Parts: sequence; C-alpha cells; structure tokens
Amino acid sequence: MACTLNQDEIKSVKGLGFLNNKGTNRFNGRIITTNGKITAEQTACIAQAAEKYGNGEVAFTARMTVEVPGIEYKDIPAFREFIAQSGLETGGTGAKVRPVVSCKGTTCQYGLHDTFGLCEEIHHRFYEGYHDVVLPHKFKIAVGGCPNNCVKPDLNDLGIIGQRVPSIDKEACRGCKKCQIEAVCPMNAAKVQNGILEIDQELCNNCGRCSDKCYFGCNKNAKSGYKIYIGGRWGKKTAVGKTLSKIFTSKEEALSIIEKAILLFKEQGKNGERFSDTIARLGFEQVEKELYSDDILKRKEEILHG
Ligand code: SF4
Ligand code: SF4
Ligand code: SF4
Repeated sequence: MACTLNQDEIKSVKGLGFLNNKGTNRFNGRIITTNGKITAEQTACIAQAAEKYGNGEVAFTARMTVEVPGIEYKDIPAFREFIAQSGLETGGTGAKVRPVVSCKGTTCQYGLHDTFGLCEEIHHRFYEGYHDVVLPHKFKIAVGGCPNNCVKPDLNDLGIIGQRVPSIDKEACRGCKKCQIEAVCPMNAAKVQNGILEIDQELCNNCGRCSDKCYFGCNKNAKSGYKIYIGGRWGKKTAVGKTLSKIFTSKEEALSIIEKAILLFKEQGKNGERFSDTIARLGFEQVEKELYSDDILKRKEEILHG
C-alpha cells in the first residue's frame, strides 16, 4: 500500500528512531545497543518483536544499532513497549550526540582498556545525558581499544583509543644482542643503539605490545592512557580527525575532554556544520586550547540553557 502519512507524522517518529520505508506506511525501528553488545535475552526479544510487528527481519547498522524493518506506523508505540520489557529503546537520529560505537577491546588480545565499559559510560553520560541538547549537527563518538583503529575512531567527530606509553629505564637496559622489545615492535620504533634501547617517538604509536617483554623489567613503568582524535567525519564529505597533543592518563580527564568538545560544538558551531568545519573555522590550536582549559565547563549552564 502506498504511503498515506503526512510529512509531520513521518518526522515525529524519526526523532524516536523510526525511519520510513520509502513509499509505505511502514518504518525501520532503530534499537540502541549502548555499546554494540546485547544479551541473549534482548536478542530473543528483538527477534520476537520483528516477528510480531516487523517483516520478520533484523538488520544491523554500521554504527552498531539494530533495525527492525516493516513496522506499521500504528504499531510503533506497541513495538517500543514490547522491547522496553528487555530494557531496550529506540532512537539515535537527529542533530545530537549519536549512539556511541566501540570495538571489542575489552576481550581483544590487543585491547589496552575496557572499551565496552568506557563506551557504556559515555553512552549514559553523553548520549542519554545530552539527549535533549540540540547541536549544530550530529556528533559521533567511537571508542577503540588500541592503535589498530578497527572502529575507525579518527573518522568520528570524536574518537578515543587506548594507549600504553613505553617508559624505558635506561639504567637497567643491558643492550641485549636480541632485544625483546625491538623484536616485538610492529612499528620498528624500538632499536638498540650504542648498547641501550631507544624508542623513536615519531614512529611509536603506544600500542603497548612491548610493555612486559623485557626480561629485566626495563619497561615496567609503561603508562596507560587515552589518545583523542577530534574532527573526523565520513559521508558526503570526509575528514580524518586530528590527534590532541596530550595523552590523557585518567579516564575522568578523557571524559571531561568529551564533554568540553560537545559544549564547544554547541556554543561555537554554526547550524548545519559538522565539528570538523567548526574546528577548521576556529583553528585546531584554538580548539585544543579551549579543550585543555576548564573555562567552557564554567559556562555549561549558560551554553545549555542560556
Ligand atoms: S582496535 Fe585494537 S583492541 Fe580494538 S578490536 Fe581492533 S585490534 Fe582489538
Ligand atoms: S630493553 Fe630489555 S631486552 Fe631490550 S636491550 Fe634493554 S635489557 Fe635487553
Ligand atoms: S609501544 Fe608499540 S610501537 Fe611503541 S615501542 Fe612499544 S611495541 Fe613499539
């Protein structure tokens, strides 16, 4: 049957995460997964909802949400109630903080931190916490476990990845013939020179693979942290995010940078521009300066409700 709904009706449910199946009165219901992970019970609930209200199919999006196609406009409230029984909700559209994506760093052999845990924290604090905050454009966040960048953090408005920064105790280094750190380094950043291991900071990406490799504990003080990219995007236009110069050694510090970036975008972004455009207009150095200062947090109430 052809679409008999008007544009206002279609728009009103888009904000709830229901996207019109072109030329029909049916919709894809977009279910948020918090961090790309759902339980077996939630999976069964989505399957039942797809049978009961949709066309029996379930589609996975590139940003780790789950869509159920073929839901009739009139069934949208019942569909939402049904999935709410398993703690699931729809959403993820509009000029807002979008659902956060994560790689499987929590369990991956290369993961340097609990990506699912951090992603969930970002989801609660910034996807849910800033849900009513309308931004100049969408704002996408990705959480990666290591510099392998599987989740493409540098193509998001803000990307955060795990780091382990080597800290070589040169006094303890014995200049071994076969240095274990040199052998394991995938970036060829580590080299024994004049009897001491040296790390080329330009080449080292803080992947942490050398952390526990030296038999003599030369790198036992390697430090964990987070690297943050800002201003990436993928779509009609593309931009690769630039790395902030600091490595953030505490999770709270990294979360605070995310909040400041969202506030800065809200305050200084022009309607319709992505964060990458705002950064290009203001200048990366200026944006970095504002993110390192807490002034913008002092203006939070004014920015959000002024
Ligand atoms: S980015 Fe690193 S931690 Fe995440 S899935 Fe890829 S290899 Fe694993
Ligand atoms: S860092 Fe450790 S393994 Fe490498 S040369 Fe020094 S002592 Fe040997
Ligand atoms: S952290 Fe990774 S890239 Fe840097 S020296 Fe160690 S193994 Fe090489």
